Amino acid sequence: MGFIDGHLHSIYLSWHDLSLMVEEGIDAIVTLAYTPIPPSSSSSLRDHFEHLMFDKIRCGSIGLRAYIGVGIHPRNIPLNNNVSTMDEYLKVVENYLGRANLLGEVGLESGSELEASILREQLLLAKKADKPVIIHTPKTNKIGILEKTIRIIDDVGLSDNRVLLDHLTPSPRIIELVSDRDFYLGFTMQPGKTSPEDVLYVVKTDEEFVERIILNSDSGVYPSYPLAVVEAYEELVEDLEKTVAYRLVSLNALRFLEH
Ligand SMILES: [Zn+2]
Repeated sequence: MGFIDGHLHSIYLSWHDLSLMVEEGIDAIVTLAYTPIPPSSSSSLRDHFEHLMFDKIRCGSIGLRAYIGVGIHPRNIPLNNNVSTMDEYLKVVENYLGRANLLGEVGLESGSELEASILREQLLLAKKADKPVIIHTPKTNKIGILEKTIRIIDDVGLSDNRVLLDHLTPSPRIIELVSDRDFYLGFTMQPGKTSPEDVLYVVKTDEEFVERIILNSDSGVYPSYPLAVVEAYEELVEDLEKTVAYRLVSLNALRFLEH
């Protein structure tokens, strides 16, 4: 079995990028909803989700198994966000969640009340549909926002092992927040985000983390590298047993997705 990239946006990747991933041993990806500009209507959101469904077929024809996530990213909250239009958008998420593999990516960016209520509603939909969830954390105020996100997860009553908290960093406070919980922990292998050395540091703070870390490239719209997970594995095996490193780039993701 090959590598799994635990978080990316394949609709923005070329045929060439995807073929390279397959050639380098990636055989599955988790491709998530996100648009660089917020949808201007619930039909635009529906079209975006249809595009993701189409991409599952496109990736499949290249030899990549694509797990599809639908949801409203906090930076994609529509500008016309009164209660009745938000209900329409949430209805679209609910309708597509049955066909998708998971909810994502969702989360908080600024942590506003509007973002919090949209996250809460979406987590309730995931709970009802029994789907795993990938949750974004922002660059700015990551720790404060992560604390708020965990409070919302607990309010909704989602099980930790159905949730992947993504774009984490090796900060001591973050490690403290997740260490006595069972969340899956996403680390994005991008310059300026996190590196294989950061992942080694986290693994060394507590061996149990090797069961829960899932690496990803978050490739898509912004500077990123579709082979980042493969290269991270090659670096990690210089310090970790191959069977241990392999969990971080394949087995953990599989357990999270196929629960
Ligand atoms: Zn992303």
